[in-house]
Amino acid sequence: MISMTKARSKSLIPFNKPFIVGKELHYIAQAVTLGQISGDGFYTQECAKLLEQTFNIPRILLTPSCTAALEMAAILCELKPGDEVILPSYTFVSTANAVVREGATPIFADIRPDTLNIDETRIEEAITDRTKAIFVVHYGGVACEMDTINDIARRHQLQVVEDAAQGVNAFYKGKPLGSLGDMATYSFHETKNYISGEGGALCVNDRELIGRAEIIRDKGTNRQEFFRGHVDKYTWVDVGSSYVPSEIASAFLYGQLEMLDSISTRREQIYRFYERELAELETEGLLRRPNIPAECTSNYHLFYILLKDHQTRDGLMQYLNDAGIKAVFHYIPLHTSPYGRKLISSPPKLPVTEELSGRLLRLPMFYDIKESELQQVVDTIRSYFQQ
Ligand SMILES: *Cc1c(COP(=O)(O)O)cnc(C)c1O
Repeated sequence: MISMTKARSKSLIPFNKPFIVGKELHYIAQAVTLGQISGDGFYTQECAKLLEQTFNIPRILLTPSCTAALEMAAILCELKPGDEVILPSYTFVSTANAVVREGATPIFADIRPDTLNIDETRIEEAITDRTKAIFVVHYGGVACEMDTINDIARRHQLQVVEDAAQGVNAFYKGKPLGSLGDMATYSFHETKNYISGEGGALCVNDRELIGRAEIIRDKGTNRQEFFRGHVDKYTWVDVGSSYVPSEIASAFLYGQLEMLDSISTRREQIYRFYERELAELETEGLLRRPNIPAECTSNYHLFYILLKDHQTRDGLMQYLNDAGIKAVFHYIPLHTSPYGRKLISSPPKLPVTEELSGRLLRLPMFYDIKESELQQVVDTIRSYFQQ
């Protein structure tokens, strides 16, 4: 037998923990009973339908990860070597990898100090004759300034892809994230709000892209048309890969999506607790809490604090870790990473990105976290500043 204690994290309060809210395990068993655990069985289709209806998106294709969905989006943008794509440097590697894999060049723009989203006022100056698309990231489930970004894209005839990995069930001016760009991507990785271990989805809002998206997802074949009876055999018609998730992951995900709102209600409670309890430290000038602009409805994906400087952040992170509380920083700006530096000949100046990423600390946030654990996190932060 394997040792369970060895596998368990050393921290008393982990940063994240997978959770079950409803019928996830029942649905996995049900998938086996139904006789299909490869892709596009009952649960994969039901998840897609539920998401399409809830978020008013013409076509949602479930994928094995958000990374896979971003790769599909980059293929669908028809990026070629020499093309440029504008995106934030403050993001997960997959946003940039999708662009780089097509031979295109990522052009990094700075972020806004209030939301840490791409600064929409810095996009236009980055546009050249080679620009093909803008990939935006809704950090922490708080929307980018999408009206401005879509307007810029329209004027310059660029495609917009939303990396909404963290943005499932969040809104901008009442409209769901994922429904605002030509395409968008969701993640159901175990660190996100709605989980299936590994998982993702491509949201296709531009209806003209739906047919090709289905082909790319199914190894470059027209199998989806074959299933619909439109062709009498299926064959290789385009590039593609294996971008269909396992039915087992989709069955688990369906159990989570059924509980969409109770999961976000719980996350909001956690967020509000931190927000309330840390207000005084902000008044004392010791930290800054996150900001949600009035036009954005968050899904409360994460709670971060911004410390005075890099040293204070690292000090607090160590202090919390020593107390058994796992708090973590977030992205190392991609333009300062080893591969990022290799890709770009002259590194851009992104002062907000560089400064804020060094001062940011994320606090434990997961569905099952107890009130006493939240209290312990807050008390430990307070005692750090009283040393
Ligand atoms: C988590 C995340 C991804 C990657 O998601 P996977 O499903 O793990 O591939 C991409 N972009 C952002 C912004 C993320 O937060």
